[in-house]
Amino acid sequence: MPGAALAHPHAKLPCFAAMRIESGGQPRLPLAVVGTPPHCPGAGMPVYTEKLPGRAARDRWTSEGPMETFDYVIAGGGTAACILAARLTEDGTTTVCLLEAGPPDSNPYIRIPAGFMKTLYNPAVTWNLTHEPCEGTAGRRVYAGQGRTLGGSSSINGMIYNRGQAADYDGWAQRGNRGWAYADILPYFKRTERRIGPGGEKPGDDRLRGRDGALPVTTTRWQHPLLDAFIAAAVESGVPLNEDYNGADQFGVCRVQSAILLGKRYSTATAFLHPARGRANLSVRTNALVTRITLEGRRATGLIYRRDDGSVASLAARRSVIVSAGALHSPKLLQLSGIGPADLLREHGIAVAHDLPGVGSNLGDHYGARVVARVKNTDSLNNRVKGARLLFEGVKWALGQPSALSNSPGVIHAFCKSDPGLDNPDLNLTFMPASFKAGVLGVLDDVAGMTCAASISRPESTGTVSIDSSNPLAPPILRPNYFSTENDRRRGVIGVKTVRRIFRAAAFRDYLDTETLPGADVRTDEDLLAFLRGNAGSGWHYNGTCKMGPEGDAMAVVNDQLAVRGIDGLHIADASVMPCTPSGNTMAPVMMIAEKAADMLLGKQALPRAEI
Ligand SMILES: Cc1cc2nc3c(=O)[nH]c(=O)nc-3n(C[C@H](O)[C@H](O)[C@H](O)COP(=O)(O)OP(=O)(O)OC[C@H]3O[C@@H](n4cnc5c(N)ncnc54)[C@H](O)[C@@H]3O)c2cc1C
Repeated sequence: MPGAALAHPHAKLPCFAAMRIESGGQPRLPLAVVGTPPHCPGAGMPVYTEKLPGRAARDRWTSEGPMETFDYVIAGGGTAACILAARLTEDGTTTVCLLEAGPPDSNPYIRIPAGFMKTLYNPAVTWNLTHEPCEGTAGRRVYAGQGRTLGGSSSINGMIYNRGQAADYDGWAQRGNRGWAYADILPYFKRTERRIGPGGEKPGDDRLRGRDGALPVTTTRWQHPLLDAFIAAAVESGVPLNEDYNGADQFGVCRVQSAILLGKRYSTATAFLHPARGRANLSVRTNALVTRITLEGRRATGLIYRRDDGSVASLAARRSVIVSAGALHSPKLLQLSGIGPADLLREHGIAVAHDLPGVGSNLGDHYGARVVARVKNTDSLNNRVKGARLLFEGVKWALGQPSALSNSPGVIHAFCKSDPGLDNPDLNLTFMPASFKAGVLGVLDDVAGMTCAASISRPESTGTVSIDSSNPLAPPILRPNYFSTENDRRRGVIGVKTVRRIFRAAAFRDYLDTETLPGADVRTDEDLLAFLRGNAGSGWHYNGTCKMGPEGDAMAVVNDQLAVRGIDGLHIADASVMPCTPSGNTMAPVMMIAEKAADMLLGKQALPRAEI
């Protein structure tokens, strides 16, 4: 019934209670002009919703009617956004509305670490994207994992907590980003985390590790002979034992640290957003796809979003619009809103609000191949999570005991150097006592096996994200350009050779049966490069597509306050602002960015620099 007016179903409720509705229980308002309760922000202003599938209809949604108003409106409800929403509303007065395209994070596999395999390709909680074919993938379309639920990718990722190296952030500062050197951002890493041991002890150096944050960071106590063998073999191969890769030095081998406590995943939704959900000044809306940032001249005024029933609504921001849709969707949203490379926007018939060439450039990722071997004289996860053994592991998991179900998919990290003369490691190996059919994460092999992935820590190759049309429902085009530099190709080959050396060390003699990937026939560097191109996969550590940079950097999208250049009232806070890929997994750095962004947005003084 287009145009039909409905009474506001919550008009008698306190205004924020009326807003604190998730799509699960959200009343379906197919089309409507609805009244706002008189004591709400934006009091007396009508809220418009209507079915607007097409572009022409969307265009009517510029800045015409007043609407619900919040201090901050956030596009995306992922890793960074959940922290932002929780921090910004801590004072009880600042109002925030968070819009997440995906559903609530109620899928039961999200909380179980081994549920990773059940969510990784599940279109109900992921975006189900693929990359464009390129030479570095031998023409394959590689799967691009991205969470699409509250908590975003932190709800479906491998849970590994890895900050990267101090040198990464000192490099960000050297590029002209004031306040982002390691000494500046270490207090924000610490503010997020609660690093704890199995008996409640506090492993690591207090100067470097957080103790009171909302995010538990633990190391698995689960035992398996292949784990000990891998660590011993790495040490034998010249990689030192390192108690804490998030401590003073990353170089070395040890078990991974994960956002897992008592066998349960802690996404940023679990750790930050859900505890804040009772706040009257926080509204969280799921199944709400943001389709456009509204602009008045060079000022961002709000967001337009589409509910999953096709109805459309809009919000106004009093202080700032915050884009936090992740490194693949934040640039897409800016481009759809007329902020981006002018040629690209014109090609798709989008009016250019601000020509910002860097939007969608500089896409970074960790591209890596998996070396796989059959093992003998022991079982592996392949056998432990099937049939009766699965039941047994399930009982241990339910009792909070170490279980095959309570680990990150990668259990050991080894940070190695492609050249012993390097100051810092530049290769990242991740070992798991499991193997998959065709070497691709998914269905476990029938026989016992092990896998070690190798990727380059700071790849030089970068790619692009761009819209394919002006339709916000169309997926973005992803061109990662993996292995487009000689240095990346060379180090990629060394990475595979490093894993082979470890697998062939004496400590693995009793366990190594046959290498199945790349396999004995793959011998020369040329063979290995061909193997990498034909088999490597994304690390799903996308970043850099709205990079932070100083005034003189024409490709910078945000400044060091995370404000979008040339547009007032618009900030970005997520993996897309990273100037370059950090030498580790990207969840912890995103959390740090969100923590710092919240302080900057609230105009708080930065936390004191660390004395290191
Ligand atoms: C499968 C997988 C495994 C990974 N493993 C690890 C790991 O073990 N350790 C690690 O450190 N890192 C890991 N990562 C990377 C890490 O999880 C991400 O870098 C990080 O979580 C990204 O945070 P973000 O806030 O930038 O984006 P996200 O957490 O992806 O959040 C973006 C959110 O915005 C929403 N969104 C997008 N567009 C819109 C729109 N138009 N409207 C409304 N909402 C929108 C999305 O649905 C999503 O919820 C992994 C990633 C994946 C996908």
